[in-house]
Amino acid sequence: MYINGGWVNAVSGETFSAYNPSNGEKIGDAADGNQDDARQAIEAAHRAFGPWSGLTAYQRSDYLDMAYQLMMEQKEHLARVMTEEQGKPLKAAMGEVQYGADFLRWYAEEAKRVYGETIPAPRSDQRFIVIRQPVGMVAAITPWNYPMSMITRKVAPALAAGCTVVLKPAEATPLCAVEMFKIFEKAQIPAGVVNLVTALNPTPIGETFITHPLVSKITFTGSTDVGKLLAQKAAKQIKRVSLELGGHAPFIVFEDADPVYAAKGAVLVKFLNTGQACISPNRIFVHHRIVGPFIEEFKNRVSKMRAGSGFEKGVTIGPLVNSAALEKVNRQVTDALEKGATLICGGKRLVDNHLDKGFFYAPTVLSDVTPEMLIYREETFGPVAPIITFDTEESVLSMANDTHYGLASYVYTRNLSCAMRMFENLRFGIVGINDINPTAAAAPFGGMKESGLGREGGKEGIAEYLETKLGGFSIQ
Ligand code: ADP
Repeated sequence: MYINGGWVNAVSGETFSAYNPSNGEKIGDAADGNQDDARQAIEAAHRAFGPWSGLTAYQRSDYLDMAYQLMMEQKEHLARVMTEEQGKPLKAAMGEVQYGADFLRWYAEEAKRVYGETIPAPRSDQRFIVIRQPVGMVAAITPWNYPMSMITRKVAPALAAGCTVVLKPAEATPLCAVEMFKIFEKAQIPAGVVNLVTALNPTPIGETFITHPLVSKITFTGSTDVGKLLAQKAAKQIKRVSLELGGHAPFIVFEDADPVYAAKGAVLVKFLNTGQACISPNRIFVHHRIVGPFIEEFKNRVSKMRAGSGFEKGVTIGPLVNSAALEKVNRQVTDALEKGATLICGGKRLVDNHLDKGFFYAPTVLSDVTPEMLIYREETFGPVAPIITFDTEESVLSMANDTHYGLASYVYTRNLSCAMRMFENLRFGIVGINDINPTAAAAPFGGMKESGLGREGGKEGIAEYLETKLGGFSIQ
């Protein structure tokens, strides 16, 4: 663990292992922290807050910029660690390292733009001035599916704003987090400003984050269930919370869209990270007049996908994170088939060519999916594409919005008016119009409804780490 500028073992001396999900092999050990370690990290971050927030924005910016340069220099090394620990193909891991580094660069710039405001006051002897100050010490919890970029997406804006951070990464990917903190160490970010607490059991650490009075804010990316739990507990002290939770993205293909082009986009975004992404389409709605050519192209593309170790050339499908993820996917597919869905391809765990040593599931396409099926409501987080046909814009909008999630959505159409109506009426924080990758460090990412609270990226992303303070001055 990295606490107060030094690498330390857990207070208990315990460790836990990290495994490669594509072959089950052990790849290393990490310190197994508990409340004691979390407390030490919080105290270090608290001590560092005064000096760090007292630096100029230009000084904080220089540290972030240095971390960006270091990530770029070590791009391939970082990507290799990620492929080994998380399983995604090396090319995708390289892409994630770049995406993660972009947050450091973008917030190095944005640090200098934390502007205040003057407001005309109602009395002639009065002046209003608004300033924005860092919220304080921040506790961050990150997931395993994007094990490096989810760290910078929180740490970069927090540090830019003047906050200090204690971070707990997912138990499946502690080594990726260790690599990221080596970057922060090399960038000579002052002791205590960023702290890493790794642990096999997240609960005691989460509990300490939530109950410790020195923690001003919790930022969390993970499942909606855990997000709700944290938000409930955070309410006790009215701690600020930012939550980036689950999704159930609709992908809508209208009659006037090119079914081949739309199918290409749908395959790319559906199988991104083997479906283990919160922006992954979970219901693909296709107009009944073009569903035939859409499915044909979709199936062609899926049949060419190859599963395996992310280090092998040509592999596009990595493993799922663990056996529970495999079981969940299997349960949803079995349920859909029992309730009348048609299996176009896939539909089983992959076991040949030593894939049984990892958690591989065949890229799967289902059609004739209906609202009664689990997959229509539950987030899948796996390589299954459920296809549903529709007739009218009105009906598809209502079906698309019929979910308690509200993160990403996608629309394919060449009709500008239809695109605008969908953009305005979809109850989702992100709408990709003929675009499957509406994400970047400069753009606000986040969900409506039970997909979360707050935004990451863009100017909204730094606002999450700032308090607004009003000064009312009376002059004589
Ligand atoms: P997923 O289902 O995608 O693994 P989780 O919400 O379980 O999502 O995990 C996301 C992050 O939340 C991980 O870092 C995990 O360790 C952490 N986490 C899980 N349960 C808790 C909890 N009770 N308190 C705090 N953090 C938790």
